[in-house]
Amino acid sequence: MRIDENGIHLRQSDVDGYRKCPEQFRQKFFGEIEDPETDAALVGTAIHALIEHEGTNGHFGTVAEMADFACNYYCEEVDRFEREGIQFNQVKYPRLDRALDMVTHHAANWGGSDFRFEFLRLAANDELLLEWEFDVPLFTHTYNNPDHGTVPVWLCGTSDVVHKGVKVFDWKTAGNMQQYLPWERQRWAIQPTVYTYAAWHAGLIPDPSWVFEYKVFFSGDKPGEASPRTIGVTRGHNHVAWLKQLVAQMLEQAVSDVSPWPQRDDSALCSDKWCPVFAAGRCKGADISSWD
Ligand code: SF4
Repeated sequence: MRIDENGIHLRQSDVDGYRKCPEQFRQKFFGEIEDPETDAALVGTAIHALIEHEGTNGHFGTVAEMADFACNYYCEEVDRFEREGIQFNQVKYPRLDRALDMVTHHAANWGGSDFRFEFLRLAANDELLLEWEFDVPLFTHTYNNPDHGTVPVWLCGTSDVVHKGVKVFDWKTAGNMQQYLPWERQRWAIQPTVYTYAAWHAGLIPDPSWVFEYKVFFSGDKPGEASPRTIGVTRGHNHVAWLKQLVAQMLEQAVSDVSPWPQRDDSALCSDKWCPVFAAGRCKGADISSWD
């Protein structure tokens, strides 16, 4: 999230974060916490970097070269976090070699996938936009309390791939299929709404129905034997209408002084390992969690 003279610029992760816990969102809204970097996210980022490199600079000859590139990327980022004093949480892979095993595993799955060849063909034909950065207007919110006035709301982010005139897709890494059940993604996922709306707004994909595809690498697949699996979601203007309602709730709640404050304690994310508010000892409800 960014707040500047043009308004509030929200990322899809801000909306997702609010749905998981309004308190986390409120603290980010007032700049009281920042998300730390995590090993699980960095594994995914290393694979993103590999794919973007192949789409932009031409393909590698062997899977070993791909794994080398992605592992080097991971190690260079860890060095950078240390140099720049960026908090890096090693929760999923406390040992570096385990993290690099997982990067190698995903790189091999990418290298052996049918989809890679299709991706390279589309990239060579200039049909793709890679790492497309967007910042598009959503609506202007008028606060209930006139002291807060009105504020333009924008959606910002970086889309992994836009297949021009066709659809948007995004790379993911995941531990198991349960994280990417198609019906759940179609019913609830926010990222497809944000990314397809942005692409449509920029004239990159047409109406009436917008297609978003997750390309998911599962850590359980044997290296080289599995393609990234496609989970498709469709979106349209009705989903954007709901998103506006949700964002209005977020903004009202962030400035509200309701007591007791709405909090969550119903997932593993509500813990010192995954929640920066909890880790900083600033969760108002952590000491009365039903987990005790
Ligand atoms: S510890 Fe739980 S309730 Fe507290 S801010 Fe984090 S997710 Fe929310």
